[in-house]
Amino acid sequence: MARLDINGTMVDTDLVIFDKDGTLIDFEYYWGQRMRLCGQQLLARIRGDESLRRHLFASLGYDPDTGTTDPNGPLATATMTKIYTIATVVLYQHGFAWDQAEELVRDTFIACAGAAPTCDLLRELGQVRPLFERIVQAKARVAVITSDDHRTTSETMALIGVDSLVSALAAGDDGFAMKPAPDAFFYICERLDVPPARAIMVGDTVADLRMAQLAGAGTRVGVLSGVCKAEDLEPYADVIIPSIDAIRIL
Ligand SMILES: [Mg+2]
Repeated sequence: MARLDINGTMVDTDLVIFDKDGTLIDFEYYWGQRMRLCGQQLLARIRGDESLRRHLFASLGYDPDTGTTDPNGPLATATMTKIYTIATVVLYQHGFAWDQAEELVRDTFIACAGAAPTCDLLRELGQVRPLFERIVQAKARVAVITSDDHRTTSETMALIGVDSLVSALAAGDDGFAMKPAPDAFFYICERLDVPPARAIMVGDTVADLRMAQLAGAGTRVGVLSGVCKAEDLEPYADVIIPSIDAIRIL
């Protein structure tokens, strides 16, 4: 059991579950660069015009001109499979046959978005490895629940040096109902044999905190390092912190 001091709130826990994007990794920095690149590759391949470019990015919930992501949009919250479907629908609406649109998205957009993460795209939102090490040293465990794909997430954990510290991972393509459904949370707790009330959730979106609420998590911690503001998270959080660096192990 670890005793945590989270901005003055003392919490005893056996399992700390983190969201990935916006919580451990800078979401805009990674997905902003990657979405812009993927969109550009797709548009170059089909010689897409300005109206298609605008339609594509608006449908994904990303503004490539300002580099901002809609916190309630698909890019911020949906699984990659759904994001690929959205790109396919946009091509269909611009006159491509459905099967042709699927093929174009698969060959360019998916190939780009699903490529292994690289260090230059990863910016950590705090001292991830030291925090995970201290949690594990205090005899609690660390898990990750993310809407991103399993392979990309595993590769990211390895790149930031925490793969051996993460005891369980539930990703967007692992077949669970997506957040805020509590399924992935229950799976992690069952797998690690920890009652949900002894687990805490740390995440940057309302979906993370509602999932934890529905699962009966011990404590819900909202972080402001991602896409949501304090007023968005307050109704669902037990405690709100600027970043994971505000979590101390006693
Ligand atoms: Mg997130």
